Amino acid sequence: MKTMGLTQLVLINPATFPSAEATARASGADDVLANARVVESLDEALEGAHLVLGTSARLRSVPMDQLPPRQAAERAFAQKPGLVTALLFGTEKSGLDNAEIDRCHALVNIPSNPDYSSLNLGSAVQVICYEVRVAALAAGEADTPQMPEHEPAPAHQVEGLMEHFEQTLEAIGFLEGRQSITLKKRLRRLVQRTAPSETEIHILRGIFATCLKQRSVKSSD
Ligand code: SAH
Repeated sequence: MKTMGLTQLVLINPATFPSAEATARASGADDVLANARVVESLDEALEGAHLVLGTSARLRSVPMDQLPPRQAAERAFAQKPGLVTALLFGTEKSGLDNAEIDRCHALVNIPSNPDYSSLNLGSAVQVICYEVRVAALAAGEADTPQMPEHEPAPAHQVEGLMEHFEQTLEAIGFLEGRQSITLKKRLRRLVQRTAPSETEIHILRGIFATCLKQRSVKSSD
């Protein structure tokens, strides 16, 4: 949950709480566990929720919306800001019973293998929470992770790289007997398409320099 930005956990009649094993397994997310609200009934758990999305391993013959996780998460974010969505999971042993399903506005089904459809609870929670994260990012309600910026090197450095590339190909004899003009053009297009950064150019030129050095060592042997 915490990895996907969700923090409010409600436990209904847990077998053991607090549980040393659960705390150990939670690792750095034990704050979510420590702050969990422990209640005795579904009614209490759903207090304050405006939209209740139940999860089920099987599609049911019930007259209610049954959605894949992505649409369910989008529906949660399509609500007015401030309205609360509850994601309801069943027990590992028996899932949600009919009375519990009746309390849901829609059912969410992870489209797994129909012949083996039941994920274990932890995996199901992770898949649903991931979709909530994706929807939150799309709705601008979560901080976008900072991707390292790719900064393409200036054109003259790409030119330097191409000269070095061609010089190396010639030195190792790769162009002999080949359509060298066409080949050089193709390689140029390849490099331009990837828009290499300064560091990447540096690495490639390092490789070319090593090839050329090896070459001159060999020819002076
Ligand atoms: N025997 C139960 C399975 C329980 S699995 C049954 O047939 O319903 C424990 C919980 O994980 C389920 O109650 C549900 O909340 C969730 N879950 C497991 N597989 C799922 C799936 N394919 N789609 C949605 N939720 C799933």
